[in-house]
Amino acid sequence: MITLNELKHQSKACTCGNNHYDILIDNIVISDQALQQVVPYLESKQFKKVAIIADEHTDDVVGKTISNLIREANIANSKSILQPNAQGDVVADEAALIEAMLGIPRDVDVVIAVGSGTIHDIVRFASFKMGKPFISVPTAPSVDGFNSMGAPVIIKGVKLTYQMQSPLAVFADLSILIGAPKEMIAAGFADMIGKYTSLADWKFSHLVADEPYCPLSARLTQEALDGCVNSVEQIIQAEKDGIKILMESLIQSGLAMLLVGHSSPASGGEHHLSHFWEMDFIKNAKTQVLHGAKVGVSTQLVLDLYKNQMLELIYSDDKLQELSTNKADAVLKQQDELVQVLKALPNSSDIAAMLKSLQGAVTPSDLGIPSELVSESLRKAHKLRDRYTMLKFWNEHVGLHEYV
Ligand SMILES: [Zn+2]
Repeated sequence: MITLNELKHQSKACTCGNNHYDILIDNIVISDQALQQVVPYLESKQFKKVAIIADEHTDDVVGKTISNLIREANIANSKSILQPNAQGDVVADEAALIEAMLGIPRDVDVVIAVGSGTIHDIVRFASFKMGKPFISVPTAPSVDGFNSMGAPVIIKGVKLTYQMQSPLAVFADLSILIGAPKEMIAAGFADMIGKYTSLADWKFSHLVADEPYCPLSARLTQEALDGCVNSVEQIIQAEKDGIKILMESLIQSGLAMLLVGHSSPASGGEHHLSHFWEMDFIKNAKTQVLHGAKVGVSTQLVLDLYKNQMLELIYSDDKLQELSTNKADAVLKQQDELVQVLKALPNSSDIAAMLKSLQGAVTPSDLGIPSELVSESLRKAHKLRDRYTMLKFWNEHVGLHEYV
């Protein structure tokens, strides 16, 4: 994983021409005994009052240990346990955001998020809105958003990502992460797998719609993805080395997002499908499935579209000319590079095989997603974001009638 110093150095040297955000994180610890470093960090920052936010489960796994350590160090602390909704889920929605804010006394110096991705999103949002910094303590390597700025939250049934704040520090304790449920490890891996299509979409949006692009951020994301895929065997065994690489990949992907201040490197058409499904689950009061699990499945659907129909279209000068739009002309102009981008992508069957060996979800039906919802999302999910993904191009120019 790139070090913070190296990242800051490379960020300064980057010549992409875009505004690079200051990386506010000053400490990332991914090791055994990372929890033991929380108190020394609080002391070094002279934080005197701390609010811990967890849910019942993550409190059992880690929260209680942290409160004990903090209490022993005579640092004042309070704890708030977020309650699940009627479906038994802790979801990042209005209710949870208010609940978290109620759990952050106005005089605390810092908030500690103890949990997986959802708790981090809730705390990222609530702490930022209350003008408090926060510290990340992940309890499972399940998602790549721990250290990014974006908080995807659901307001009135619509899932949107708001740019809030990154944590000041991350303490990821391997002795805890290694005990995470297999499905959460598979979900973290699957969230990384989504970078195949998010990176391709980012490049596409840059070449075709002139959206801002940063080769440094793209390279960091690609390296994180490759590191993860190359270590799939160790991750399957849930060996410490494998879990460490997975967590480092997830954190590095988060750093790549921080650098550019948005989630384009890590979120393309595959994430839009996942958000669409999540919103549908909420509308129908269905129990949520893990973010990464959805991304692993949606990545395969998007890969099938991109590597087959989309690639065929990009190859065809005649068809592109016939479409006769500015965007189709831009695709034609960038034809060679786009063909390379798409040809470099893996096949969906390769992804399915990896997810299967990780005992993760492979197909929409594994997640309880009916085929009508799959079709609808392939036709509509691109509208959730402005980003000019290939999914958007395809829908605007050709349409996905064959999926109906
Ligand atoms: Zn994701």
